[in-house]
This record gives sequence, C-alpha cells and structure tokens, in this order.
Amino acid sequence: MSNLRFTNLTRQIEIGANCYLLEVAGRRVVLDCGAHPKMEGKESLPLLEGLAGKPLDAIILSHAHQDHLGSLPVLMRQHPNTPAFMTDATLQLADVMLHNSVNVMMKRHENGEGDAPTFSHREATNCVRRFRPLPLGQRFNLSGDRLGFDEIPDVAIRFEDAGHILGSTAVIIEADNRRILYTGDINFHDQSLMQGAKLPEEGIDTIIMECTRGATPQPDGFSREQEELRFATAIREIFAQGGSVLVPVFALGKSQELLTMIYTLRKKGLLPECPVYIGGLSTKLSEIHDRLAHESHRQHGGLDLLESVAPFTISGREINQYPVRPGRIYALSSGMMTEHTLSNIIAPHFLPNPAHGIFFVGYADPESPAGRLRAAKLGDSFQMAPDIQPEPIRCRVETFGFSAHGDRDSFLDYIGRTQPRQVLFVHGDPDARAWMRENLASRLPQTQILDTPPGVPLTL
Ligand SMILES: [Zn+2]
Repeated sequence: MSNLRFTNLTRQIEIGANCYLLEVAGRRVVLDCGAHPKMEGKESLPLLEGLAGKPLDAIILSHAHQDHLGSLPVLMRQHPNTPAFMTDATLQLADVMLHNSVNVMMKRHENGEGDAPTFSHREATNCVRRFRPLPLGQRFNLSGDRLGFDEIPDVAIRFEDAGHILGSTAVIIEADNRRILYTGDINFHDQSLMQGAKLPEEGIDTIIMECTRGATPQPDGFSREQEELRFATAIREIFAQGGSVLVPVFALGKSQELLTMIYTLRKKGLLPECPVYIGGLSTKLSEIHDRLAHESHRQHGGLDLLESVAPFTISGREINQYPVRPGRIYALSSGMMTEHTLSNIIAPHFLPNPAHGIFFVGYADPESPAGRLRAAKLGDSFQMAPDIQPEPIRCRVETFGFSAHGDRDSFLDYIGRTQPRQVLFVHGDPDARAWMRENLASRLPQTQILDTPPGVPLTL
C-alpha cells in the first residue's frame, strides 16, 4: 500500500479559500480551489505556489460557492492540461459565478478598493470550456472515463449528492484498496428546497469533513418546519406594523431556499401575497435552478421559482434611489452584508425605523457587517460601511436557523455509523474544529483524528 498524503492549501486556518491536495497511488488531485471573501488579489488565493511546475492529474470541484470555486481559473492557468470534474449543475452555476466575480473584482479595482482581478472574463470562459461534468453515483477514472463495476484503476472517483446547494457533491476516492470521502459542504437534513445527503456508510477508511457549525449547538427541539412558522409569523408582524423585511442572503443557494419558503408559506396561507425583491445575480442563478427543476436532487420537483413567486429584480444601479415601501420582502445579497452589496446599501433605510425588520437566515462571519449587526444591541449606533453615515438600530433584528450546512451532531452521527480509521476536519473556525475533535474522540476512541494546519503535508 503506497502512502496517502493530504495537504491543506488554505492560506488561513479559518473558513476561506478552500483547497486541498490529495496524493494517492502516485497521482495528484486537488479538491476545490476557492477565493477568500475577505482578502484581495494574491492574499485571496489558496497556497497554489507549491503546486506550480508539478504535474496535477485532476481537479474536483464540490460546488459553486465562491470559497470553493473562486480561484479555480488561476489553478487551471497553472495547469493547462488538467481536467476539472464537477456535476453538470455546478458547471452551469460556476459559469455565472466566475464571470460575476470578475465583474466584482474589476469594479473594486476601478474604485481603488482592491487589487487587479486574479483572472479575466476570457480566462473564466476558457476555464468553463475545460470543465467536465460527471453524473452522481457512477465510478470514473481520473481521465473522466466511466468504469465498469469490477474495473479497478489506480484511482477511481464517484460523486454523491451532498444536500448543501444545487449541484453540491461529496466525492469518494478509491485507491490502493482504501476509500476516502471528501464531504465538501454538506447537509444531511432536508432544507426547504434541497434534499438532505444520503452518503454510503460502508467501507469508508478516511473522511475529510467540513465543520462550519462545529461551535454552534442546535437549539433543543429544533425543527425546520417550526422555524419556517416562526419566520412567517415574524414577517406578518412586521407587515402589520407597516414595515418591510430585509433578508440578507447569498445569491447562490440561500436565495432559492428563501423563494421556495415564500412559495410554500403562501400556499399554506401563512404569508400574504406581497412584492418580493431579489438581486440580478440571484435572478440568473434562480433561472438555472428552474431550468434543472425536473432533474436535480430536490424537493418540489418541477417547481419554477421565478414563475411561482414572481420576484422583482433590483439592479445595483437602482438600489440607491430605491424607496423602501411597506409590506415587502427584500431578499438581497450578500448574506454577510459585505460593503457595496445590495443588502449593505439598502440597510440604512431599515435600521432607524422600528416598523422594519432585518432577518438573518444563515452563516455570517463575526467580523462582517452582518456578523457585527447580529452582535449589536437595539439602540446602538451602527455603521454599515466606512463611507455610509451611522444610524441607530431601532428596527427588529432577528436570526433564523436556516443554515445550508449540517448541524454538528448529525456529522458526529454519520461518522459514528461509518467508523472510519481516520477523520480530518476542515472548513471550520478553530473553536469549531476543537469541538468536533473532542467530541469525536470520546465517541470513537479508535479513530485517528488529524488536525490539518495550512501548508503541512500529512501522511495518512
Ligand atoms: Zn458552500
């Protein structure tokens, strides 16, 4: 049995530019290649320097979120002949996401706020042309050829739906009689739109697992259905007092989950018909969800979100002059209310008005404007961005538990059923990893739990 080596190529320890190198059976495979949302230029990239000039057999993209995808064109420029594998849905979403990030980087650079873009539109286009979509549940070799049931190449890969967002996949890598599972971002429970992941539990030797919510306990008796009811009630209360609701959302994933929620809550008579506003990127990504509505792992098969909920699109140009009218839902990106995004720009209209509400529905970095606002108190003076005047917080600010990442106990349960020889935790802040490590160690004392410091090759 040859050595298996794993190197964490994230530049920082916390959630950022996810990228991992797996060396197995003499082959080299990179898992994901994200960009750090808080960094600029080279600092936003994973540790790609160490990969330059060395052969790379394959790149695997778990899903199209920026922190997994955002530096892929830079890696593919370094390795012009290496194929990149992903699901077909991820390919379509990644095409839109990559061009959007070039626009964002160019705009920031032109405004003197950021470094030059790390890649161009032309490079994004060329990169997408080289993408190789693979279906779920079938084995392929690293050239992308489908394998027969008993065919054993040096390395085989297989995708399994990860239940996180449209197209998200976990990947099982077989080599040297061992099976390695990389979860990507994963959720074992059904969301409003996506169906929970059902991963194999037999014969997995090594698990490389995300742990975004490792430091976040699930409230006792939590159920998604109850949480949706609480969300609908809060919106109705805001409407009854003549206010509007701002829901900061990620354009990919959370926007479509929210549209689905609005659709089902309306159908149950729990939300009135009301105007819903989303951003341009969310609209483009929702179109892809609608196009694939019949063929993806999801609930409400065939439901056309844009047709059934009929949201209006607000562009970046209109947002500044936009009057906030009562009885409306503004589901605008970004989820973390990053400076110069729609949710950040519109927020000062909501903050000082006690009739309005700002409702959070997912993860926010504690240092992001959304993270800071969640930690602030009613009456505090709050500044959305350095160039925006501070406003007192008088509106209702509330957080709802609609994370697209699985809860930590469901992760431990899965590992407990699988009984792997080794577990590596990635994609989590230090306190999240520490909780997962400690709790897994007491549950499965035989399993080796490895820390994954950036840039250090680990022999497994
Ligand atoms: Zn993700």
